[in-house]
Amino acid sequence: MSETPVFTSDLLKGKKGIIFGVANKRSIAWGIAQALANHGAQLAFTYQGDRLKESVQDLASTLTQPSPLYPCDVTKDDDIKNVFEQLGREFGSLQFLVHCVAYAKKEDLAGKTLDTSRDGFHLAQDVSAYSLIALAKAAEPFLEKEGGSIVALTYLGSEKVIPHYNVMGLAKASLESSIRYLASDLGKKNIRVNGVSAGPVNTLAARGISGFTTMLENHRNRAPLGRNVEIEEVANTALFLLSPLSSGITGEILYVDCGYRIMGA
Ligand code: NAP
Repeated sequence: MSETPVFTSDLLKGKKGIIFGVANKRSIAWGIAQALANHGAQLAFTYQGDRLKESVQDLASTLTQPSPLYPCDVTKDDDIKNVFEQLGREFGSLQFLVHCVAYAKKEDLAGKTLDTSRDGFHLAQDVSAYSLIALAKAAEPFLEKEGGSIVALTYLGSEKVIPHYNVMGLAKASLESSIRYLASDLGKKNIRVNGVSAGPVNTLAARGISGFTTMLENHRNRAPLGRNVEIEEVANTALFLLSPLSSGITGEILYVDCGYRIMGA
């Protein structure tokens, strides 16, 4: 059970956002959704394919404000276009966007990076990194009306070698660089773009990484706080970056990892 207290306020009352990447109740995206809703935001969600529709629908129905749902495979430009056409009709303007989407072939999250196939590389980059650029572009007309904030989820494997993270580390490096370039492109429109680098959290995507339990254990043993991060802590940091409390921050990666990254040994 989580030790993190639940905070509530009207900080985001009247603000609207869209969240990409809820698969189930363990998803980091769902943790972020709950934090945002606890501070008054109205949310829209996307799901990838009918397989996930019911699960996302059930979760969204627990929120007090109506939450539109749209299908979206982020590798399909038409899906992205449809999402924002519908969102434009239902929400008009938008104040934030949350990107919690990543995918790589299971065989590329085991063994050596040296064995990564061309296909596997493209797929991981397309779903996990290019998608941020495509979504930011599609969201820009809605975010620029009042200024807005975009947050994407990343991981330390972008800058350090983490066993088995492999092709996803390359994709996260690309995602983090995209965050900086997009922040530069969109800053004049008062649209901020930041990343949250979370320590390992036991989710569906994480369980696809070979040896994930060892990752959790190493993290716990080495992090200054002596434990794994809680999803609510990741969510509260995303909330901060999506809210006006962080109005002077853009192009940054904030680490929510119980201090793991600062350790040399
Ligand atoms: P998750 O619940 O499995 O979420 C990943 C989401 O990405 C799922 O909803 C998944 O849908 C979606 N997705 C994959 N391919 C897609 C596509 N082509 N189009 C649209 N959506 C697609 O796992 P999570 O751990 O919360 O992951 C959320 C984000 O946090 C990811 O960017 C991940 O890299 C990042 N992160 C996770 C950790 C961790 O330890 N868990 C740590 C740091 C950062 P499907 O289920 O249909 O594939």
